[in-house]
Amino acid sequence: MDLRRLILILAVMSALITLSNAFFATYKVQRQLLIDGTLEANRVYAAKLADTTNLFFESIDHQLAYSSAILSTGFDNPNLLQAEAQRLLLQTNSFNSVAVVDADGVVLATSPDSIQIKGRKLTSPGAIQALRVRSAKISEPYISVTGNLVIFISSPIFSEGGTYLGYVGGTIYLKQKSILNELLGQNFHAANIYTYVINDEQKIIYHDDAARVGQPMAHGGLSEAMRRRDSGSLQEVNRSGIDILAGFAREPLSHWSIITIRTTDNTLMSLQGLMLSVLHRTLPLTLLTLTAAWLFARLISKPLWLLARSANDMDRTGISEDITRIPSWYFEVAQLKRAMLVGIGLLQQRIGTLNTEAQTDPLTGLLNRRGMSLTLDALSAAKQNFAAIALDIDMFKQVNDTYGHDVGDEVIKFLAQQLRACSREDDIVCRSGGEEFLMLLPDTPRGSAAEIAERLRSTIAAADFPTVGQVSISAGVALWTPETGNPEQALKQADDALYRAKAQGRNRVVVA
Ligand code: GH3
Ligand code: MG
Ligand code: MG
Repeated sequence: MDLRRLILILAVMSALITLSNAFFATYKVQRQLLIDGTLEANRVYAAKLADTTNLFFESIDHQLAYSSAILSTGFDNPNLLQAEAQRLLLQTNSFNSVAVVDADGVVLATSPDSIQIKGRKLTSPGAIQALRVRSAKISEPYISVTGNLVIFISSPIFSEGGTYLGYVGGTIYLKQKSILNELLGQNFHAANIYTYVINDEQKIIYHDDAARVGQPMAHGGLSEAMRRRDSGSLQEVNRSGIDILAGFAREPLSHWSIITIRTTDNTLMSLQGLMLSVLHRTLPLTLLTLTAAWLFARLISKPLWLLARSANDMDRTGISEDITRIPSWYFEVAQLKRAMLVGIGLLQQRIGTLNTEAQTDPLTGLLNRRGMSLTLDALSAAKQNFAAIALDIDMFKQVNDTYGHDVGDEVIKFLAQQLRACSREDDIVCRSGGEEFLMLLPDTPRGSAAEIAERLRSTIAAADFPTVGQVSISAGVALWTPETGNPEQALKQADDALYRAKAQGRNRVVVA
């Protein structure tokens, strides 16, 4: 697991949680909006229907009151009664049938003629009620003599002297086609709203499903709400277990309540599409956010990743330059980078010191065997010609024996100084063993090498060594070119030449 992945996971998780949270909140809000909107729409629609119904009843009241006035002037004239009944039915188009009834409940005139109840005494609840109350009245629904479920609306007829003569009234069908059903049936079927009307006694007066007219209403919470208020709305589960959104309003003349209902499921049908379009609209920005998060994760993690990779590789040459190039655009990386560069500087300095120490002879400060070997490798790798001069102090054992080991060391040190003093800048002087030395002279031809060796020998022979005075050396010279092969070969030749110099009497130079 690396930082980039961690940042990415964090970013993706945040984006997804934010998105789903927004999505869920939108869903909740939209759902409530739809429900509230539908409840209000149903309430307004019920109120509108109640208004319309009220206007209808007021108009009927006026029509009947007007007829009552006409009838009171000629109640004993059957033709007038018949003509008025006919006019009421045909001119107003409000009723399914019209009757003029006397104070004993006997029918004096009807329209249409087909109902054939003229001369009969009416015993229907509507008729009895009209006689009893002697005022304008909308009856409870009842089954009429002709077998239809009806309501009866009547207006009393009084003589000029104030004697009750009877009443004129009309029936309106509740189940069959009637102006009332047409009025209430104008609902928006397309919007899946259904309407019904109940009267004071909670009986269904009108229903989009005609079969339910006359039955008692089946809503617990809704009836309760309607008892308390004239108009309102309510969400509840009906007795069939369906969640509904209902609006209701009372019509003041009849005390009927008009109820409009839409099922919650149906209301929320549009929610799915709505949420899909929300998703559709949020998706591009979410993808953009995720892409930006990915890019940013890269940008943040890359310098750290590069630093971490460099940390594995601190002893490599050139690592400092690589680290310097790492972009450090924020604090932590800048600090880490600085600390690493300082650390690498110290490390390499330390390694350099150790290397130098490992390649240096502590007594003389010259290259030791290891340093010599590395130098040889470098020269042969560069295919650089060189001359090798092998040197050995003559009769050194005697020096040690005579003056002691410490003086012997001083002699070695003094000789080393002499050798260095006599060599050129490019020449390499090594202490190859106890009192043995090797000089490597790059690009030096045989003749020059022999001359240099001879000059060394004579310089040493002439030098005044501390304590011991005179010391001589013997030298063997050999040459190396890339064609010679292994540089060790040249050293061997120089050693052989040195051996010969010793054999020939010491304090001399022999060229291989
Ligand atoms: P020659 O080379 O002329 O044949 O005679 P030599 O006496 O120098 O013989 P050899 O080279 O074989 O002896 C080397 C001696 O140098 C042996 C040892 O005691 C002495 N020696 C080697 N290394 C050191 C050193 O570091 N310090 C001292 N003081 N003596 C050393
Ligand atoms: Mg020796
Ligand atoms: Mg010797």
